[in-house]
Amino acid sequence: MQSRKDKAEADITTHLKNPYDIVQGLLKDSTTALRLNENVYHLLKQPMRVLEVSIPVRMDDGRIENFTGYRSQHLDILGPTKGGIRFHPDVNADEVKALSIWMSLKSAILNLPFGGGKGGIIVDPDELSERELETLSRTYIEKITPLIGPQKDIPAPDINTSPKVMGWMIDEYDKLRGHNIPGMLTGKPVIIGGSAGRLAATGRGVSITIQEAASVLGMELNGATAALQGFGNVGSMTAEFLHHLGVKITGITNAHGGIYDENGLDIPDIQQFVKKGNVVHTYPDADPLTNEDVFGLPVDIFIPAAVENQITKNTAPAIQAKIVAEAANGPTTPEGDKIMEEKDIFVIPDILCNAGGVTVSYFEWVQNAMNYYWKEDEVNAKLTEKMKEGFQKVLDIRREKQIRMRQAAYTAGIHQITEAFHARGWIEEPYDK
Ligand code: GLU
Repeated sequence: MQSRKDKAEADITTHLKNPYDIVQGLLKDSTTALRLNENVYHLLKQPMRVLEVSIPVRMDDGRIENFTGYRSQHLDILGPTKGGIRFHPDVNADEVKALSIWMSLKSAILNLPFGGGKGGIIVDPDELSERELETLSRTYIEKITPLIGPQKDIPAPDINTSPKVMGWMIDEYDKLRGHNIPGMLTGKPVIIGGSAGRLAATGRGVSITIQEAASVLGMELNGATAALQGFGNVGSMTAEFLHHLGVKITGITNAHGGIYDENGLDIPDIQQFVKKGNVVHTYPDADPLTNEDVFGLPVDIFIPAAVENQITKNTAPAIQAKIVAEAANGPTTPEGDKIMEEKDIFVIPDILCNAGGVTVSYFEWVQNAMNYYWKEDEVNAKLTEKMKEGFQKVLDIRREKQIRMRQAAYTAGIHQITEAFHARGWIEEPYDK
């Protein structure tokens, strides 16, 4: 039986694992440190609108299953809200709210004219047939239709949602509206108005921030080593870019296990293996690796590219990397962060590190509006410029204020949003004297 002390400790841990509590705590700390008027915190701390929907789906066996979905819109003062839709069994209202706040900060840091949004459905997509998944995707869009649109809130892919899912969703929206509205959603297939370079954009952005961090630390990437937790779209693309830069990736894990090769895994071969429909941890030409052991590998760079709450008080002590690049959203708990601070690890925080996805989504939205499409090289060049600018902005704040990268990123994002509150007349004097 749990003792009272264990129970109290478990409660604290649970509390710290709620991403909504975590992001609100970070907002509170940052606004206080910036000597911002408390009203700014109160305006930032919760989304302006959250919708919960029921999504009845007739399953292949004839039975109706009713799924629950959400869409959270944090703030639209810098532009329409923007952010992905995830399909995952752990989706819940607080997670979606937190993710929408992170989207606001991400866009603000990169100076994109968007606020934050996020959606999700509580579902394990592996348990659904293709037809069931399509019905689920279409019905979700139907249910959130009153809230979305190219000038209101623009969805995109996130965990377990692909360009194919985006194709179903935009088709449903266009049918409901009666005409083509390509800018209502991003991350769609290129043939129906998607942007060249969008699929690889988040991973490309992660690798750009790693190059910037390596140059701050004087680390030579050619021959450096890295480990990755998560091998979905973002993880696998990041691996590919790092491999091209000469980084040896020695370990990769997913939720079920992983693979290890101290001489560096054969990334192109693993990509082929996964493309054929296999899962990464079953790749035969490597040693097995557990998800616990990936944290402690002797590498220069560690990349959490899975879900929230992975770098915790239990896993952070093992980390040996000099750079932690947060490709996932919210991969670190406050306790895990404290440990990384004590170890003086250079953390590229999520709201900067993984902002490449929404940046190319912004380019997609712009191309949809002008009905003129750029070549991939042009998109990639624009992405590189944006990511470097964002990184430099955060780095300058870190140097000037002698704070950590995460605090500097929050400072950059909050500052931008606060200027907008001021410009719109919501707050007269943002800074306390
Ligand atoms: N889901 C991605 C993210 O978390 C991309 C969002 C978007 O492209 O709007 O940043």
